[in-house]
Amino acid sequence: MRYAISGASRGIGLEFVRQLLARGDTVEAGARVPSEARQLASLAREAGGRLRIHTLDVTDPNSVRAFATTLSGSPIDVLINNAGIGGKWNAFAEVDFEDMARVMETNAIGPMRLSSALIPNVLKGGTRKIIHLTTRMASLADNTPVGVYGFAGGAYAYRMSKAALNAGMRTMAVDFHEQGLITAVLNPGWVQTDLGGKIAPTRAEESVQGMLRVIDELTLANSGRFLDYQGKEVPW
Ligand code: NDP
Repeated sequence: MRYAISGASRGIGLEFVRQLLARGDTVEAGARVPSEARQLASLAREAGGRLRIHTLDVTDPNSVRAFATTLSGSPIDVLINNAGIGGKWNAFAEVDFEDMARVMETNAIGPMRLSSALIPNVLKGGTRKIIHLTTRMASLADNTPVGVYGFAGGAYAYRMSKAALNAGMRTMAVDFHEQGLITAVLNPGWVQTDLGGKIAPTRAEESVQGMLRVIDELTLANSGRFLDYQGKEVPW
């Protein structure tokens, strides 16, 4: 199968590439600055042509257009919108609105921009899947003074951006249902990466193993859902 993924230079995106290659898939990997993505380059050297690395910044329309042009209408089975940033987790009085705009642009608009550019490729693919990496912190139901996840309140930009992404995914699930598009937002868990930090309880290997299982099992009948890496439903 052929996958396209954003944010493949490190963290969860890099681990997706590693596991997809190991199981024999082909990957079109986007990195903002490929020359700095050394681990990705080393995977490409061992992949026998099954990994192509592209310059891709999801906040830059020209970059997204160039990526889509390189793929020139060829089928993509699964698009994984993985690229994301945390932004500043300031208390309400210190919210930095420029930072908030950057986080919205990267986490909410970026995945819609990339999905829009690649939807012709995805609809030509055999499995027709678009997956977005979201977060449990986007759950409105869980964001209460007694939220079960222990992360309620704060992180305005991150929460708002991923909640907007979730709304975009749901809308695409409705609009492209007739055309057979299968889509979902996945919470990877709290994962040891630059974004998640060293004290996160879940390793990227485990998170990605779980998410690949969830992605493989998604069907049109259960498209449009908010799931975690173990396949459990997350409350909206
Ligand atoms: P990292 O910070 O480790 O990696 C983020 C990746 O996104 C990098 O490859 C980075 O590229 C890329 N990126 C950032 N901005 C852009 C952009 N404008 N265009 C293209 N690529 C970009 O984060 P994680 O691997 O932890 O996160 C991956 C996804 O999972 C994110 O969407 C995140 O929100 C989500 N997530 C992560 C959790 C965790 O605990 N780690 C928890 C919940 C959700 P570069 O190297 O160039 O900066």
